[in-house]
Amino acid sequence: NAMFKIGFLSDVYQEKPLSETVPKIRTRFPPEPNGFLHIGHSKAIAINFGFAKHYGGECILRFDDTNPEGEDERYYNAIRDIVTWLGFTPVRETCASDNFDRLYELAEDLIKRDGAYVCHCTKAEIKAQRGEGEGGQRGGERYACSHRSRPIDESITEFRAMRDGKYKAGEAALRMKQDLEDPNPQMWDLFAWRIMDSEEKQHHRTGGKWKVYPTYDFAHCLCDSIEEISHSLCTTEFELSRVSYEWLCDKLEVYRPMQREYGRLNITGTVLSKRKILQLVKEGHVRDWDDPRLYTLIALRRRGVPPGAILAFVNDLGVTKAVINVQMAKFDQIVRQYLETTVPRLMVVLEPLKVVIDGLPDDHVEMVDVPFSKEPSFGTHNVPFTKTVYIERSDFREVDSPDYFRLAPGKTVGLLRVPYPITATSFDKDPATGTVTCVYAKYEKPEEGAAPKKGKTFIHWVGESSAHNSPLRAEIRIFNPLFKSEDPSAHPGGFLADINPGSEQIYKDACIETGFRDISASAPWPKEEKNAAAGDLATNQHSIRFQGMRVAYFAVDRDSTPEKIVLNQIVSLKDTQGK
Ligand code: ATP
Ligand code: MG
Ligand code: MG
Repeated sequence: NAMFKIGFLSDVYQEKPLSETVPKIRTRFPPEPNGFLHIGHSKAIAINFGFAKHYGGECILRFDDTNPEGEDERYYNAIRDIVTWLGFTPVRETCASDNFDRLYELAEDLIKRDGAYVCHCTKAEIKAQRGEGEGGQRGGERYACSHRSRPIDESITEFRAMRDGKYKAGEAALRMKQDLEDPNPQMWDLFAWRIMDSEEKQHHRTGGKWKVYPTYDFAHCLCDSIEEISHSLCTTEFELSRVSYEWLCDKLEVYRPMQREYGRLNITGTVLSKRKILQLVKEGHVRDWDDPRLYTLIALRRRGVPPGAILAFVNDLGVTKAVINVQMAKFDQIVRQYLETTVPRLMVVLEPLKVVIDGLPDDHVEMVDVPFSKEPSFGTHNVPFTKTVYIERSDFREVDSPDYFRLAPGKTVGLLRVPYPITATSFDKDPATGTVTCVYAKYEKPEEGAAPKKGKTFIHWVGESSAHNSPLRAEIRIFNPLFKSEDPSAHPGGFLADINPGSEQIYKDACIETGFRDISASAPWPKEEKNAAAGDLATNQHSIRFQGMRVAYFAVDRDSTPEKIVLNQIVSLKDTQGK
């Protein structure tokens, strides 16, 4: 990704450039395998991989799996998959759990250095020791508990007892012996190891071996140290933790990486929290975790957003220390810009209305040359222009008016790329429902020597020819925001009360022109991901994207089969939000 903008990371580098102690830049992206990654994580991925790449270093994908309760194998796989999809190759994959033995040794070492003790206080007691009142008020006096001064040997014995299952969760924990006088709460004797001994939820990788697990505060810095990370980049909520990070490495006299912080990236108008998305899935408001209306990365992929557009978005916002809240409309705009020059154009009719062109013979087939893009390098293809064509129902009106420029009785419009325009003459209506079922038109081919008639507007269309298997039929899913407001979680009735009932419109009988087969089979784009044969639609769906002229950008959905094409709207052609 040559376009990666380094931003404030150049200052970070200047603070600790390559040297004998840091011979190589090494970063890590450390997700916890307890959920699917979301758009915010793409910033963390871009920063860690981008920084390493910029300075010729390497980035590790580390699964931060120190809490078996919410972790699961499917997330390891999904995370690995999405990092690869974004275009990054970790130099290697590691797991915090690979280091459990070493981390345990370091814990005993810490006790021996008088840097930790086994504590049996309850949560409420510990709160009180930290000067926090019942109601959560802070600033009270802080004091040590009796366990803090117990002999080192006793803590070693008790820590081994914890390890060996002699205590239940909550009955004992290993706490760091930090500095209660320090104003930073990250120095108030943080938990280092706690008991988690659940029969039903064992660790995915270490099974039932461990009954004690290290906390983030203990494990994260030491895993960074063990892996010889040069720059440990994390989000700004961890700014205060920098002190405990350094304290622990120094207390143990192990290599100390440099922690620096960047600002989180949040999208407004949606929810990113795992708990909330789970509720949306469970209650059927969305199809699954990859529903195109969500902002998990698997959802964006399913919707058809190219990975390059996600990286362009992160880059455009800037790799900064500031926490960024950005509207979905901004994201859509970047995606639209990206697609504008990178995908071909086709004609797609969402809600087909039949137009019969009187005067053309029944078997009339005229192959019309249509460019795939404004970019000449995309080439052209042929589509059949026939006696029966389908146009968008919204491009026809029963009654004309002077400020209306599309098709109506007596009105002339151009069909995109067809040599001469058509003029509507009459139409049929279903008497029961009142809907127009067929429009009759004439083809305005001028007499020899006469000036050709012109339409003011050009509309898209798809011809009907069984010989060309045209039109292709498709189900098309058009998406609107899933929530009505910019801050669904602030809704007094809860975020579910803010759901937009019209977030998905399905067009079951849409028409696609035959060029779709060309782009699914052998098109030279997009260069990043080679397209698959049409028969592999369901597995290779992510790479088939195009602009439906005058409609929207589309991608093939994973629900597609060789018998049935399903398309998702990636983004609209224009920003229509708030209009
Ligand atoms: P969430 O609560 O959203 O799942 P998390 O911090 O629990 O976030 P992790 O799996 O620990 O998620 O995240 C892996 C890395 O991605 C961490 O370094 C984390 O700081 C970073 N990260 C998480 N959310 C964001 C975000 N919104 N913007 C930027 N970085 C993020
Ligand atoms: Mg997470
Ligand atoms: Mg986390």
